[in-house]
Amino acid sequence: MNPSRPERPLRPLLSVVVCCYNEAKVLPLFHKRLMAVLDTLTIRHEVLYVNDGSRDETLALLAGYCRVPGVRCLNLSRNFGKEAAMVAGIDYAGGNGLLFIDADLQDPPELIPLMVHHWLTGSDIVNMQRRTRLSDTSSKRISAHLYYKLMNFLADKFDVPADVSDFRLIGPAPLAALRCMPERTRFMKGLISWLGFNTIELPYDREPRSAGLSKWGPLALIDLGIEGVLALSRKPLRWFSLLSLVIFIATLVLIIYQVSVNNFSSHHVIMGIAAFIALGIAMIGEYLGATLSEVRQRPIYLLDRLLGETPERPEHTCPPHPREQENR
Ligand code: UDP
Ligand code: MG
Repeated sequence: MNPSRPERPLRPLLSVVVCCYNEAKVLPLFHKRLMAVLDTLTIRHEVLYVNDGSRDETLALLAGYCRVPGVRCLNLSRNFGKEAAMVAGIDYAGGNGLLFIDADLQDPPELIPLMVHHWLTGSDIVNMQRRTRLSDTSSKRISAHLYYKLMNFLADKFDVPADVSDFRLIGPAPLAALRCMPERTRFMKGLISWLGFNTIELPYDREPRSAGLSKWGPLALIDLGIEGVLALSRKPLRWFSLLSLVIFIATLVLIIYQVSVNNFSSHHVIMGIAAFIALGIAMIGEYLGATLSEVRQRPIYLLDRLLGETPERPEHTCPPHPREQENR
């Protein structure tokens, strides 16, 4: 599907989407700072919180914020993970521009006007890029560096910019395109890069978490990394096929040589080939798992309820008609 490019909207409406999972400790301060910044904006705006199955007081706090016009909350039926919560935000946001921001104050809300300025002056996607990763451990810094190198090696004809967080503004054209992508295996950073459009990276200093705990342990990060590869590239499968051919030919040559000199010992060859096959089966299993998720067509998230005014899901046509964006 190739959605046509909506013209720049006559009346921009910004949806600020905030995914929250057990953020009760930081939410009051976050909400106060966010609302203070939004009050200074000259364009229309709304706030859409997505409560991703929090087990603390997050939902109670959000219910209180939703009493104010222009603030809504989606309460998901359980914890689906941040990628799924972001999809819920994309589906239910009523704006023609969408801005993702984390609830833990690592992304300063005070940068929103700058992002909006770049949107209104011609950028389709405004990515915030960490200037430094000083708040990360050295192992996280090194693994992130290697991961971005790998992703760019795997991605065909597009770049995944390093150190770009989920703190970004997505304008009407890429937003409409995202809404037309029904896939289940999600990796937002990669998908956004895949979209293309006129993109700008703005450097910023990512603050340490204001309160509460990060939800990303090393295992969750590995999981996200594998999802990213599965969502963006089939190259590992191709490489494995080519390497299998090379190993097959090399093994044949070795066996013929060993038979000819009467010194045949198959142990090492068999062990090497077995390890290689095990790796291949594991990799094919990962791709098969990702395919299974797509075939099942299960929803990416389930909604428990909506809080706040105008609680219905907006109609997004796919592909969108350029004029529709203007009338919103
Ligand atoms: N988050 C979410 N669902 C999850 C995990 C995280 O909605 O399953 C939200 C979380 O509340 C926060 C944002 O995603 O607003 C980033 O999470 P976190 O700060 O734990 O990630 P980190 O900054 O450590 O990468
Ligand atoms: Mg964080």
